[in-house]
Amino acid sequence: MTPQGMGNRPDSDDAISTQSTASCAQCPTPGAAQTGQTPPPGRSLPPGCDECGYVRDLLADLETRLRREMDGQRETEQALLRSRDALEAFMDAVGESALLLAADGTLLAINRVGAERLHRRKEDIIGQSVYALLPEPIASERRRNVERVLRSRCNDRFVDERDGRQVEHTLYPVFGADGAVAQLAIIGTDVTERLALQQAVEDARRRLQTLIGNLPGIAYRCRNDRDWTMEFLSDGCEELTGYRAAALVGNRLRSYAELIHPEDRERVWQTVQDGVAGRRRFSMDYRIRTADGGERWVHENGLPLFDADGRVEALEGFISDITEQRLAEQRLQEALQNQEALNRALEDSRRELAELAIRDPLTRLYNRRFMEEALVRELVRAERETDSLAVAMLDLDHFKAYNDDFGHAAGDAVLRAFAQAMHSFRQGSDVACRFGGEEFVLILPGLDRDGAFARLDAFRRTVAGLVVRHEGRELPRLRVSIGVSFYPEHGRQVDVLLDQADQAMYRAKAAGRDRVMMAE
Ligand code: GH3
Ligand code: MG
Ligand code: MG
Repeated sequence: MTPQGMGNRPDSDDAISTQSTASCAQCPTPGAAQTGQTPPPGRSLPPGCDECGYVRDLLADLETRLRREMDGQRETEQALLRSRDALEAFMDAVGESALLLAADGTLLAINRVGAERLHRRKEDIIGQSVYALLPEPIASERRRNVERVLRSRCNDRFVDERDGRQVEHTLYPVFGADGAVAQLAIIGTDVTERLALQQAVEDARRRLQTLIGNLPGIAYRCRNDRDWTMEFLSDGCEELTGYRAAALVGNRLRSYAELIHPEDRERVWQTVQDGVAGRRRFSMDYRIRTADGGERWVHENGLPLFDADGRVEALEGFISDITEQRLAEQRLQEALQNQEALNRALEDSRRELAELAIRDPLTRLYNRRFMEEALVRELVRAERETDSLAVAMLDLDHFKAYNDDFGHAAGDAVLRAFAQAMHSFRQGSDVACRFGGEEFVLILPGLDRDGAFARLDAFRRTVAGLVVRHEGRELPRLRVSIGVSFYPEHGRQVDVLLDQADQAMYRAKAAGRDRVMMAE
């Protein structure tokens, strides 16, 4: 707009007219004020200014507005730059790769990790076709991934191996205003560790399955019901029970409870319920009936599993065959019992032998050998304690007549009756024994002459009163002749004392029998 184009100013404007006479150095057409031109209609010249002043002010106004507009634009640009930087910084900070592709594969944006994975600089590759950055056949594969997303409008996924790392990429469709897939966002996550872990878990699961499958027993999972409804049984089931696992799972052919020996069922139920109540492991031995009608002993070790509400979810455990072990234990038990019986028998016979060695089998009195040893001991004791001791020799009178008149068995009965009387006569540390045939010896420690005589004569009378029956017949009364020697007056040695007593006994015989005679 030129001042000339502005038109005439009104003559009535005094303020202007008063200043219009001033010359203006800025005015491009000096003296224009005198041209009689007027400002355009609706506009008035700025006060105190002629035509060139008006233009200057107008330009200043325009400049101010332009500057303000430019400032605003700059601020917008800076805000945009700031948000772009923030977005870029945000994307770069993410540890995963992020790419934005146009539908034709042009790389629109990529973050730091994405560029690093491609071994390129960000600024070198933006705007390029992503397929040109990849070797074949990977480029073709990726093109197919992109096409799939464009077609399906759904996510797609692939795993790339790069620099020894496994990177899982997910392609997300980005929809334009028209609803079509305009761009694709691709996020790449390093899943090397996750895949290694998954692999390790898978390997462990496979190993466990192999192990369970080859175990010489049954790994199981069942419900805590009266059927023990099986949810899982390992392959060892067939070998142990004769039933395939599938026949027992879900009680299809038989329930596991039916396999348990009827006598053991309640005990098994109770043991498991105790484990459930106490929330602890349970174990027990019981019998099962196999498919072929046989019987096996098993050992079960299990654990109740509870859900979040504390209810029993299932029971899991292991059942192993212990039949052989049981049989071995049984055999061992029998062997031990036999051994015990054998030991008892051995002990009995040992005791018997020991008894035989010291006792006379017919009368059960000590024998001569024992008597002699006992006499030695008693003599030592008597000497130590300066005590006296009597040794009596007893011989049945006319004993031979019993044999002759009533038979040898009757003679034996008389000998036993006499021995019984001797046994009853004994007191304290007296020793009664059979010296041989129908001769007997009594060792009476601690007795003096009178005491010994009194007791032995009382015994003689007791013998005379004995009634002996044999085969229903009463045998003639028994008589005995007794000779007694004393320690220390008749001797200090066994044979001397015995000999002295023997001589005294013969004197009793000679004197008419049935009497007690002292040694001289
Ligand atoms: P005496 O009054 O003189 O002692 O006469 P006696 O008949 O008792 O004595 P004798 O020595 O003549 O006979 C003893 C008999 O005892 C001889 C023998 O057959 C018998 N005799 C020895 N041991 C046993 C035995 O164990 N059982 C039986 N039944 N007789 C026996
Ligand atoms: Mg005799
Ligand atoms: Mg005799």
